[in-house]
Amino acid sequence: MNAPEKPAVPTEPHVMHTYGRLPIALSHGKGCWVWDTAGRRYLDGLGGIAVNTLGHGHPKLVPALQDQIAKLIHCSNYYFVPLREELAAMLAEFSGMDTVFYCNSGLEANEGALKIARKYGHDRGNHNPEVIVFEGAFHGRSIATLSATANPRIQAGFGPLVEGFVRVPLNDIAAVEAALKAHPNVTAVFLETIQGEGGINPATIQFLKDLRRVCDAHDILLMLDEVQCGIGRTGKWFAHQWADIVPDVMPLAKGLGSGVPIGAVVCGPKASTVLRPGDHGTTFGGNPLAMRAGVETLKIMVEDGLMANAATVGAALTDGLRRELAGVGGVTEIRGQGLMIGIELDRPCGVLLGQAADAGLLISVTADKVIRLVPPLILSEDEAAQIVAILCPLIKAFLAKS
Ligand SMILES: *Cc1c(COP(=O)(O)O)cnc(C)c1O
Repeated sequence: MNAPEKPAVPTEPHVMHTYGRLPIALSHGKGCWVWDTAGRRYLDGLGGIAVNTLGHGHPKLVPALQDQIAKLIHCSNYYFVPLREELAAMLAEFSGMDTVFYCNSGLEANEGALKIARKYGHDRGNHNPEVIVFEGAFHGRSIATLSATANPRIQAGFGPLVEGFVRVPLNDIAAVEAALKAHPNVTAVFLETIQGEGGINPATIQFLKDLRRVCDAHDILLMLDEVQCGIGRTGKWFAHQWADIVPDVMPLAKGLGSGVPIGAVVCGPKASTVLRPGDHGTTFGGNPLAMRAGVETLKIMVEDGLMANAATVGAALTDGLRRELAGVGGVTEIRGQGLMIGIELDRPCGVLLGQAADAGLLISVTADKVIRLVPPLILSEDEAAQIVAILCPLIKAFLAKS
């Protein structure tokens, strides 16, 4: 037997215990592969939760970031940084929107969006603005964004929640219209174009079109949280572009910096001038390192055709999963778009996380029953086939046993 001996389970007594972790310590990566400190190799089907757009150790990104670190990492928002405009102009061009506020994470981007929704009301004499949010939503873990989130497990223990949210079911335009009638103070409708943590639940194209029409009719903001589904993952720059609409506010984060923390609130004409000097800010937001990471990520995506890759490899991966899992009892649905894929089972399946890692594949399980694949957008068809080959037998064995 030459199987490597299992290393001792890593411990971290000084790190606050807020996550359940697998007993694996990762040390480095290359492309869609990562290695642990015991030398074992894993195919990365998780991409750091839809963050590592360019995979690991990308040959164009690494030297660019090294160059930026040597030049300027941070300088505050007292000064102009040309990279800020460069990235904002790219985001504006790709989205058809106008301006960008920079921050450092997804919840911060959503927090910015919620401030815009409230200010939009106050500017119109509505001093009790409300926001329509959805069942199954996840928007982050600050007090305001966990209040907008639908998961009671995320909210438990942190009340009182922030007021001013009206919750309705996803993909139910009649429920939105009824909520607008009952709550005339609503200033925004806020949703993930494809729910991520809620279990890869897409807003339908018809629903998105209907929301655009209803928001226009009421002169309120359509705010699409594309923190997880944006930045090319679905095969278009932004997931809502499949519905051929443009939102008024679009929070971004995860994939935008390929792993360097960054958040952005992209705004169209209705929202671009709501926040004025002094209304919002953050020390790290728009720092040169994050800006360079964003600019290089988007440029490399264009140069290397990564959106087309996400579409074709995503379709191949979904087809492979559908083929291998066809007729398997306990598989409820396989859904998603591009390289944002959920496999819903009829029972909680968290144990698959560790089993997949033991078999050399990193995945996640969200909403208890949904296996989530959000790999780097550089994933090859061969790597997609390897994901299918590792994962499907595990799912079948799990369903046969449990
Ligand atoms: C991850 C996520 C967030 C929160 O982002 P953080 O960077 O973890 O704060 C918000 N919205 C969606 C849709 C997400 O997937």
